[in-house]
Amino acid sequence: MKEQYDVIIGLEIHIQTKTQSKMFCPCAAQYFEKEPNTQVCPVCAGLPGALPVPNKRAIEKCILLGLATNSEISKNIRFDRKHYFYPDLPKGYQISQYDNPICSNGFIYIKNTKGEKVKVEIERIHQEEDVAKSLHVKNYTLIDCNKSGIPLIEIVTKPVIKSAYEAKEYASKIRQIVRYLDVSDADMEKGQMRCEPNISVQKKGTWEYRNGMICANGGCTLNPKVEIKNIGSISAVEKSIEYEVERLIKEIEDGNEIIQQTRGWNAVKNITEFQRSKESAQDYRYCPDPDIPVIKITKDVVDRIKRELTELPDEKVQRYTDKYNLSEYDAQVITASKEGAEFFEKLLEEVKKELDEKTAAKAVANWITGPVFAHLNNTNKTFEDIEKIKEGLGKLIVKVEKKEFLNSKAKEILEKALTEELDLNKLMEESDVEIISDEEKIKEFATKAIEENPNPVNDYKAGKVNAIGFLTGQVMKMSKGNADPKLVQKVLKELLENTK
Ligand SMILES: [Zn+2]
Repeated sequence: MKEQYDVIIGLEIHIQTKTQSKMFCPCAAQYFEKEPNTQVCPVCAGLPGALPVPNKRAIEKCILLGLATNSEISKNIRFDRKHYFYPDLPKGYQISQYDNPICSNGFIYIKNTKGEKVKVEIERIHQEEDVAKSLHVKNYTLIDCNKSGIPLIEIVTKPVIKSAYEAKEYASKIRQIVRYLDVSDADMEKGQMRCEPNISVQKKGTWEYRNGMICANGGCTLNPKVEIKNIGSISAVEKSIEYEVERLIKEIEDGNEIIQQTRGWNAVKNITEFQRSKESAQDYRYCPDPDIPVIKITKDVVDRIKRELTELPDEKVQRYTDKYNLSEYDAQVITASKEGAEFFEKLLEEVKKELDEKTAAKAVANWITGPVFAHLNNTNKTFEDIEKIKEGLGKLIVKVEKKEFLNSKAKEILEKALTEELDLNKLMEESDVEIISDEEKIKEFATKAIEENPNPVNDYKAGKVNAIGFLTGQVMKMSKGNADPKLVQKVLKELLENTK
């Protein structure tokens, strides 16, 4: 049944820009956990006659995001009023952008379920202001205007996303990019990023994609789309779309009419719920805001902002795989956050002084994707929290690579240093025992192990080669963990072969 339908998704993402002050007034933009209505002035409270002054830094950050997403940048920025009545919008209109967004016709790449590169076209990125916050208490509502006027960026894709999975990948890529660029912290739990997919399902062959639009083929009628509002987590993007697609297909199959509507995601019940039938764009009575003059964006301005473009995650993955021979998987894990990538690069800088670049990169990657990530995941710490481990860790990695320090022991003291917040260098000095790579000494231990353990020896001789693992363990124990495990295996094998 499902195979007869195509899923068509467009995604709108709202992101609060990270700035010192609000979008059109000097009030502080950091409103999280602040006393309600303490960061308010006549402009963001929407009092009559107050004059908005656009925030230059917010516009620059919007342009920066446009450049990072391959968008065209408008030469003339104009703000429009979007009218609607809502208790948390005291002015009666929101300052937004209608037909002339700051950025248009951009694109980014994501991977689909098969791991293939897929292009997601971005129709527009525009700048607007956030609204106030309503707090519903019993039978009345309180309004907190601290959030009113926070710079808000809206990113709108064309209807080109083909599955819930792709929508999730796209949303997480956008979050990664805005964090890399420091456009926003995009903390979804704090409401700094919200997603709104619009979804339709169409019978295969009834439609085609033309000039950024979904068009009906001759004689066919299209099913209307459904919008899901204010999704506050990346996983809910995927789950809500999956749910909605199933629901829509069932409605069609049952012969019910689908109406264009807005639904909400209920994260407790894992279902979407009807909210209202959708308004069309004309209902908002958009008009240019007469209080804000047109802002000219010259090439010089764009060039200056371009210099702020840092290396983006996809470019980093490419460089790590090309230059350092890292696997794509490792490169992606390390570049998932900008902090992770910086930690890797700084550590590599250290280790590279002692080892050749590719060996160093591979070793550093293994330590970060292994024990370091395990520790961060188990303790909810960030790379910033473990910043000071870097110097000692670089030395430790070099020692292990040069076989001056046992891998198992190194992992042990790293974990100790991280958990108990101890000085890794000092721990290294204290437990700096020579690796026993003296073959005669190891032969002594190995001979003893063979004499004392006839059963595994017989097993080995009967063809159970794994039995050597037990004997290796015995030798390691005798050497108090200091023997070179590879050499132990080699010596054991030789001895066992010779006594056949
Ligand atoms: Zn204000």
